[in-house]
Amino acid sequence: MRVAVTGGGGFLGSHLCEALMRRGDSVVCLDNFSTGEPENIAHLRAHPAFEFLHTDVSVAVDVPGRIDAVAHLASPASPPDYLRRPLQTLAVGSRGTENCLRLARRHDARFVLASTSEVYGDPLVHPQGEDYWGNVNPVGPRSVYDEAKRYAEAVSAAYRRSHSVNAGILRIFNTYGPRMRPQDGRVVSSFITQALAGEPLTIYGDGKQTRSFCYVDDLVRGIVAMLDSPEAGPFNLGNPAERTVTELAELVLGITGATSELQYHPLPVDDPVRRRPVITRAQERLGWYPEVGIEEGLRRTVEWFAARPRDVAAGAAAIRGGQQDGPAVMSAGTAAEAGF
Ligand code: NAD
Ligand code: UDP
Repeated sequence: MRVAVTGGGGFLGSHLCEALMRRGDSVVCLDNFSTGEPENIAHLRAHPAFEFLHTDVSVAVDVPGRIDAVAHLASPASPPDYLRRPLQTLAVGSRGTENCLRLARRHDARFVLASTSEVYGDPLVHPQGEDYWGNVNPVGPRSVYDEAKRYAEAVSAAYRRSHSVNAGILRIFNTYGPRMRPQDGRVVSSFITQALAGEPLTIYGDGKQTRSFCYVDDLVRGIVAMLDSPEAGPFNLGNPAERTVTELAELVLGITGATSELQYHPLPVDDPVRRRPVITRAQERLGWYPEVGIEEGLRRTVEWFAARPRDVAAGAAAIRGGQQDGPAVMSAGTAAEAGF
């Protein structure tokens, strides 16, 4: 296949590009590096099966030549990232998704949307199956991400119904692994960065909130299976092994051997209390299930971070200085480009 991967310069996207190329597909990677890193794909650039288009998919998506599938991953994903880019996040979830659906329609190509467990908001049902419609605050700070993804799901389903686009939806639960940015503010990258830098681990709230953490290689296998399938979904993809944030901190301390203290900070607004996927549908329809346990996944991730001490030190300083936090001012140029 020749697959267009939007957000291919990011954490999940770069692993997806690699996985597709490993099995002989060619990849057109589209990214504007707003939250991705050129380094994530530097090793792929010279490969004849890899093309890169520096583009903002909220503005336009134009891929020369034939496309067999579109994997739409472009979007900020870390809460500090999307809270700093509220309008860009809404734009890429809405207009960006429409642009990618139009591309898929033009080529009669498979389309897979990387949606999120955040469509369940702060869930009132536990664990979360795909039939649960969620509990999202439509005007809270996180709504720029949650509602953008809910719209992205709605427009993907409508293109499937109205235009017969072969669109499928994946709801991805917290995924971690090599190539997360040390300063991206997500819990796994932050704890590993802080532990390796000998700094306190920042626990938001009382640390009793839960998440279910999936290792990146498992998750990417699920995306590839969905690209190969004609299923509409939505399917949850995640590892159902649920942990509290405090348990995660203790695991990271154990693996790194760090003696950092746990430092408590206020819980962010609308931070979900618990989250665990029901994955029966992905298991039955895609034959997919996660294989890497959290200890092994964290060990591999710590190894990757530990090999980059300068990035870790800079990341720890950025987290300490709150640079990953707070609203970013959108320049007039960026706003105009994104259509606002
Ligand atoms: P990431 O921030 O590392 O990657 C996102 C990529 O999209 C970056 O390379 C960024 O530069 C690019 N991008 C953002 N806006 C763009 C635009 N307008 N045009 C072109 N490129 C743009 O995040 P990630 O963790 O790799 O997440 C990838 C996708 O998976 C996202 O859609 C996210 O919502 C979804 N997802 C991820 C997780 C997770 O735990 N990692 C969980 C649920 C959903
Ligand atoms: N979290 C934390 N310390 C951090 C970063 C995050 O305690 O330094 C908490 C956060 O409040 C949330 C959980 O860890 O309850 C997962 O956060 P993350 O940003 O990784 O993902 P999401 O909230 O999108 O699930």
